[in-house]
Amino acid sequence: AKEEGRDRYAMFDEEMREAAVQSLDLEADLRRAINHRDFVPYFQPITRLDDGQVVGYEALLRWQHERRGLLLPAEFISLGENSGLIEQVDWLLYEQVIEQVARGGEGYVSVNVSPRHFRSPDFADRLLGLCDKHGADTTRLRVEITEVALLDDAPRTLRMLRTLRQHGVLAQLDDFGTGFSALSYLHRFPISALKIDRSFIAGMGEDGRPESLALVRAILALASTLGIDTIAEGVETDEQRAALLELGCRFGQGYLLGRPAARIGGLVTA
Ligand code: C2E
Ligand code: CA
Ligand code: CA
Ligand code: CA
Repeated sequence: AKEEGRDRYAMFDEEMREAAVQSLDLEADLRRAINHRDFVPYFQPITRLDDGQVVGYEALLRWQHERRGLLLPAEFISLGENSGLIEQVDWLLYEQVIEQVARGGEGYVSVNVSPRHFRSPDFADRLLGLCDKHGADTTRLRVEITEVALLDDAPRTLRMLRTLRQHGVLAQLDDFGTGFSALSYLHRFPISALKIDRSFIAGMGEDGRPESLALVRAILALASTLGIDTIAEGVETDEQRAALLELGCRFGQGYLLGRPAARIGGLVTA
């Protein structure tokens, strides 16, 4: 039994070492990928729930890894955040998205902005500068921020959002309902839409959690009071679409309405 214990310990040790080496490798890979610009935006449509009309797209980060193929954010975002590399990755992505917007087309394209960016005082100017450089219509660009950004450094975030809005860039509040959702702050910020987190939409069906429906209803009532648009995330079934419409939610995003793709409509973008 003692032998066995030692073997098991050795095995555990080996696994730990491998995990550490792998994450080191991945960080080195990430640095190299930044130099090679191996990131591409995928675009997922945001549609009107009544007639399916596309009103915009969310740009979603993908890493074209030289050996491992296309990687999703879940596979490297936390590494990117911990190593402080995510901001560089984001800027590479934003520039591609802005180039895409400059090519023309209809509807808006939203980009994900992590709270880290709001700590850098020149974020808004830099984003607007890229639009200027590429001749992109700023009214077709939107930012998605989370509630954390509103709480973290409220005065700075407010200034940033105001600057962006003055130049036509609207802000949408991402993953709404998962953060602190202190309703008192919401009306103080220039937010054009709430994106209702996927977990609530998933819970709306017959086999879901009963409180989800009530929460979605409450979020929609709040948004309506504040005159803010609502986008349901993770709409996967027609049942969800119908229920959301009936509750008064106007917009949706999800596999039922369109998967993320490397192209917008018929245009290849990457
Ligand atoms: P998010 O901002 O909430 O983005 C929506 C995520 O839900 C995307 O995952 C999308 O592919 C997925 N999704 C869309 N419809 C459905 C559906 O019907 N069912 C299910 N199960 N999932 C659906 P993705 O692309 O893997 O992105 C994950 C997260 O990574 C994003 O969540 C966002 O927080 C982050 N992220 C994505 N792009 C960027 C970026 O450019 N920069 C930064 N900093 N973060 C990003
Ligand atoms: Ca993504
Ligand atoms: Ca988002
Ligand atoms: Ca979201």
